[in-house]
Amino acid sequence: MFLRRLMGLFSLDMGIDLGTCNTLVAVRGEGIVLNEPSVVAVRKGTNEVLKTRDGEAVGLAAKAMVGRTPGSITAIRPLKEGVIADFEITQAMLSYFIRKVHGNRAIAHPRVVIAVPFGITAVEKRAVLNSAERAGAQRVYLIDEPKAAAIGAGLPIHEPRASMIVDVGGGTTEVAVLSLSDIAACTSLRVAGDDMDEAIMNYMRRTYNLMIGPQTAENIKIQVGSTAPLPEETKTEVKGRDMISGLPRRAVVTSEEIRESLKEPVGQIIEGVLHTLEQLEPELAADLVDNGICLAGGGALLRGLDTVLAKASGLDVRLADDPLTCVARGTAECLENLDAWAPAMDSDEDEYQ
Ligand code: ADP
Ligand code: MG
Repeated sequence: MFLRRLMGLFSLDMGIDLGTCNTLVAVRGEGIVLNEPSVVAVRKGTNEVLKTRDGEAVGLAAKAMVGRTPGSITAIRPLKEGVIADFEITQAMLSYFIRKVHGNRAIAHPRVVIAVPFGITAVEKRAVLNSAERAGAQRVYLIDEPKAAAIGAGLPIHEPRASMIVDVGGGTTEVAVLSLSDIAACTSLRVAGDDMDEAIMNYMRRTYNLMIGPQTAENIKIQVGSTAPLPEETKTEVKGRDMISGLPRRAVVTSEEIRESLKEPVGQIIEGVLHTLEQLEPELAADLVDNGICLAGGGALLRGLDTVLAKASGLDVRLADDPLTCVARGTAECLENLDAWAPAMDSDEDEYQ
């Protein structure tokens, strides 16, 4: 125990949020040290990470390439809809991020806590554990993402009372109720931020005959997206390719139009949350009358999502502080208290050996 504590002082223990959109790394005592898109550029048909003049094309460098790659290169998001769609590339990405955080620091062999989507299979867990080990981790612990999100959001999950977290990410929305430090109910909805982007792309195509890429759609969503009337409605300029002439052009859309286009994915998220609530044990449901719902994840930043969810559920809904970093901060908090948390987490010592 003493030795482990001592090593903890010198090694660079880290918490990792392996998200479908973004990967974040938090280091004990330093906070969030890396925040990059979960994207890797590879040579088509291979698992070979593209090397550019500035180094390996992973994260920010790779995201800038999405939709702009020549035929021989593809920019891949190795995690899709909350599951690992591509093992080897996930591994390459994780390894790149761990090495990047490690940099030239002399002492290696960190202990690593990784938040993984709830409901991934044992094989997928093994793949994540292996990747982290190959990247130099000495001990690896896996924690369910909704639990990490709840810890990061500061919910009192240790108590014998229900706390509810809704984490709206890129690929999935995880809806979880926790009590006594564990998950009492959890649903993973396959509708989240990416579907909002897609809805905007479809709207632009149908209404303006304008084809736009996913990044443009995401920018529009972030700039003017909403779920309820805004105090001041706005407009934004959108650029893409005209479907009839085939030529590049611009169009102007209003925030009202974008709101209309987002109705479907937003409606599905709300339905999913209500459905989870309907299936809860009565005591847990009763606790939520007082405790309400906490929103986390980047998708929670969509203007007015908290208000429409509150209206639909009749519960108090609040946005976590800094929703995009909740999961990573939660993993870092587990690191602080590894002795207390470790028994509740999957690690490379037990069933995955
Ligand atoms: P993941 O956990 O799947 O990696 P994140 O929690 O990092 O996902 O959230 C990413 C999602 O949040 C993306 O779909 C992104 O477009 C969306 N997002 C980020 N900021 C905003 C914002 N201000 N408004 C609406 N959506 C946002
Ligand atoms: Mg997430």
